[in-house]
Parts: sequence; C-alpha cells; structure tokens
Amino acid sequence: MLETIAGAQVARTPAEVRAWTATMRAAGKRTALVPTMGALHAGHMTLVDTARQHAGAVLVSIFVNPMQFGPKEDFSAYPRPFENDCALCAAKGVDLIYAPTPATMYPPGFQSHVEVEQLTQGLCGAARPTHFRGVTTVVMKLLNIALADVAVFGEKDYQQLQTLKRMALDLDHPTAILGAPIAREPDGLAMSSRNVYLSAAERQAAPAIVQSLRAAQARVRAGERDAARLVAEMSAAQSAAGGRIDYVQIVDPQTLQPLEMLERSARVIVATWFGRARLLDNMDLLI
Ligand code: AMP
Repeated sequence: MLETIAGAQVARTPAEVRAWTATMRAAGKRTALVPTMGALHAGHMTLVDTARQHAGAVLVSIFVNPMQFGPKEDFSAYPRPFENDCALCAAKGVDLIYAPTPATMYPPGFQSHVEVEQLTQGLCGAARPTHFRGVTTVVMKLLNIALADVAVFGEKDYQQLQTLKRMALDLDHPTAILGAPIAREPDGLAMSSRNVYLSAAERQAAPAIVQSLRAAQARVRAGERDAARLVAEMSAAQSAAGGRIDYVQIVDPQTLQPLEMLERSARVIVATWFGRARLLDNMDLLI
C-alpha cells in the first residue's frame, strides 16, 4: 500500500514503484524519473517541469545516498525536511515519490558497483575519490527500479550529468538521460540544498562565483582564448570574495579534459567553498 504524506503518494519499495510504472504504462502514459536527495528547492522543481514535458507521469526519488558521501563529508548533517519535500511535490503535481531507506537500497551482503572510469577522474572526482562510484551505483539502481522512459538531471552537477549519460550509453540502459539548465537565485547563485549551510555574510558573498563565470564569458566574447589567464582571473575574484577554491577548470564539454586554448566549445566548471558549503557552478564559455 502506498502511503500518503502531505498530500503526496509515497512508495517505499522497488515492487511498489514497478507496479506504479506498469500501471502508468498500461494507461498509455510515458514516465519520467527525477532522482534527488531531498531538501527540495525551486531548482529541483524545474527538473520536474522538464520531466513533465516528456512524460505524463512523474516520479521523484528522495534518497540521501550514503554511498556517495566520503567519510568526512556531510552525510549526517545533510538536511532532510521530508514532509516539506512531500508537500512541494504534491503542490507541483508529482505523481509518485520513491523514498527508500538505506537498508532497502543496500541490504546486508550488497557488493555490486557501477564505475565510469575516465569522466570521473578529475574535477569533483579528484577531491572526492569515491563519490561518483556511489552516484553511478545508486542511479543505476534507481533507473532499474523505475524503468522510466526518461530520467532528468541538472546541469548544475555537470560532471555527474556527463557521467550518467556515458553510463546509460555504455551499459545499454533504455531510459533516456536528459539534462536541465541550472536554476539560479535572483542574484545568480546556483540553487542548492547546501546553500542552507551559508551564514548571512557568506550568502551575500557567494554570488561572486557566478559573477566570475559571467566575467569570463564576457572576456571570451571580447577575444580572450587563454584558459590559464581566465582561470587565474576567476580564481582571484572568488578568493577576494572569501571563497576557498577547490578547483576552477576550463574543459572540453564532452570529455571534461582540461583545455589550454579555447577553440570550438569550452565549459568552465567550479567548486568553491564558502564557509562549510562546497558550492558548484559551471557555464558555457564559447556561445
Ligand atoms: P541533489 O538533490 O542535490 O542531489 O540534486 C538532485 C538533482 O537536481 C540533480 O540532478 C541536480 O543536478 C539537480 N539540481 C540541483 N540543484 C539544481 C539547480 N540549481 N539547477 C538545476 N538542477 C539542479
């Protein structure tokens, strides 16, 4: 039996999700999966909008996946406002929430993993060596449970999106992996569940990240092509605002390999700490 929480229907087991997908399919509806870790915000809701454009029935999963957190990361502290998440989904017309427990996802004896080898090496993979293995494993499980026509992921986690597209291609998964643009606060800061970690002063300073990316975009439009110079400028601007840079890199948008000179297409990808929040952002530079 599905639970109803804050007006939303909630499944707790793979069998419940599969039965729902089969019912939707029998009714002639395409299905879309939107995987999340909860603490939902307007950015997640734009993924639901994208999902709705492709499917008559939308499933949102909410699971704070222990496997993608390192031992010193914020797994325990990660916000879990579950009732509020259910209310947001209900208001948005989400058809089903899948909220499994860690024990359901990883029962005793669990020992299988999915790894995408190259795309996960640099950028976030450098500082978080086991992160993407946790992401690809949980997303493959969710794709296999949902058996949806499409699954939607945000470009905010650009390396993750590219990695998941590769995974689905390499392993012949039939669900189409779609990307959705970064949703931003009015001052440009990329929306994130981790923005709640920011103090008022850090929240005021954090838009320096997106401002530095926009400045780089303008420099490229004006003719700059030297990646090292652009990276130095963005880093200096973010540091001056109090950010502690994990990385600022200009990469090929498909291979994620670092570029020295910008030629056809290029993406800048950034991870910078403000206080205890590690904030991600990225942008096309050659447009
Ligand atoms: P999370 O709950 O942070 O794991 O994110 C779940 C999904 O929402 C991922 O596909 C993220 O890329 C996406 N997402 C999170 N924040 C944003 C945002 N500001 N804009 C677009 N997508 C986002």
